[in-house]
Amino acid sequence: MADILQAVKGMNDILPPDSARWEWLEDKLRALMRRYGYQNIRTPIVEPTPLFVRGLGQVTDIVEKEMYSFVDAMNGDALTLRPEATAGVVRAAIEHSMLYDGGKRLFYIGAMFRHERPQRGRYRQFHQVGVEALGFGGPEADAEVILMARALWRDLGLTDVRLEINSLGVPEERKAHRAALIAYFEGRAEQLDAEAKRRLHSNPLRILDTKNPAMQDLVNAAPQLSSFLGEASLAHLAVVKLVLDAVGQPYSVNPRLVRGMDYYTHTVFEWISPSLGAQGTICGGGRYDGLVEMIGGKPAPGVGWGMGLERVLDLLQQSGITPPAVVPDAYAVLPDAAALGSAIAVVEALRAAGVAVLMHAGASAGLGSMKSQFKKADASGARHALVFGGDEMAQGMVAIKPLRDAEGSQVLRPLADVPGWAQELRNA
Ligand code: ATP
Ligand code: MG
Repeated sequence: MADILQAVKGMNDILPPDSARWEWLEDKLRALMRRYGYQNIRTPIVEPTPLFVRGLGQVTDIVEKEMYSFVDAMNGDALTLRPEATAGVVRAAIEHSMLYDGGKRLFYIGAMFRHERPQRGRYRQFHQVGVEALGFGGPEADAEVILMARALWRDLGLTDVRLEINSLGVPEERKAHRAALIAYFEGRAEQLDAEAKRRLHSNPLRILDTKNPAMQDLVNAAPQLSSFLGEASLAHLAVVKLVLDAVGQPYSVNPRLVRGMDYYTHTVFEWISPSLGAQGTICGGGRYDGLVEMIGGKPAPGVGWGMGLERVLDLLQQSGITPPAVVPDAYAVLPDAAALGSAIAVVEALRAAGVAVLMHAGASAGLGSMKSQFKKADASGARHALVFGGDEMAQGMVAIKPLRDAEGSQVLRPLADVPGWAQELRNA
């Protein structure tokens, strides 16, 4: 036998019955997007590497060490499997002049790739749903996308999720803060760890993000961006807070919430589930008013978020929330292969009428005994068995036998008038 080939480390197969949970979540997501007027966008999984280097910033975890980048051996192009989708969505919006007639509300669902150490909640191929409200500069758009995530928690029945927000202001304010931060950390250089030293001049803001316990006091006493925010930035943040208050959504302002990517301005936020531990951020996002211009478009504002589907599914499982099982309405049992043609014609007519029917199929030895067919019918979870027995068929009938209802009795229905009785089989 040939060697057994396995999936790439950190990249998972999603198999039935688990895949049904994914489809259930995706259905909820699409319904949510419709309610808020967000339209689907599908961009390629592979993009030119410079898109991410320019869009995310050189000194970010993603660009520094997590990208699957390669050279296309056919033509020498530098390509990268998308680690996130905002940069690609913005590239597409510019490339197709999508904003010429005003803002666009967009969403995507798809696979992302990051070369991280695989562990619970952290994979190398994972899946994100995301929204991007492009061309909308006002704080009401920030509030809208935050509230969409909240609506999703409600739709899913999740309660164990809290909101943190912060404002990163505008570039000039960040520049002033950055200078103050560098001065502060330079004066305390002996307390910095190696990573912080490396980031001191390239991305000092990220030092605030450190998980090193030895640096917490130092970081807590560092100059805060909030004291560098001007009137307009404060007003923007105030409206976001006002809306959250108005709808009764609790939040905490976390001055150390900076998010990974360089492109954020004004509002940034995270939805965090305490029960997922270190991988507790299930949704993160913010405003990125400089990104369109950075990628080469006419300046336009934008705000959005990305959410990890694996983490949402993990949280659902932990919260004991299981989607309803997907079962067929009926299972077709076939005592004699001679009836196959007419049985399949009936089953097809039922399916055309919207009834979910699983047709029995045998092993190489044949269709199998009635007993084993009924066992399969039962195991399928179907509510009814359709029995294409010789006697009934001779009368132009098929027998419908209830499988879940011990009281119910078998009825006969005419083969020639499937639409007349098909709806009896539909699950409520
Ligand atoms: P973290 O701090 O956990 O590394 P991040 O800031 O890198 O997250 P984003 O780039 O903002 O995450 O992505 C948005 C969401 O995508 C995260 O909140 C998380 O739910 C999910 N996510 C990010 N990286 C992974 C991964 N490697 N595996 C699974 N989900 C992920
Ligand atoms: Mg990360």
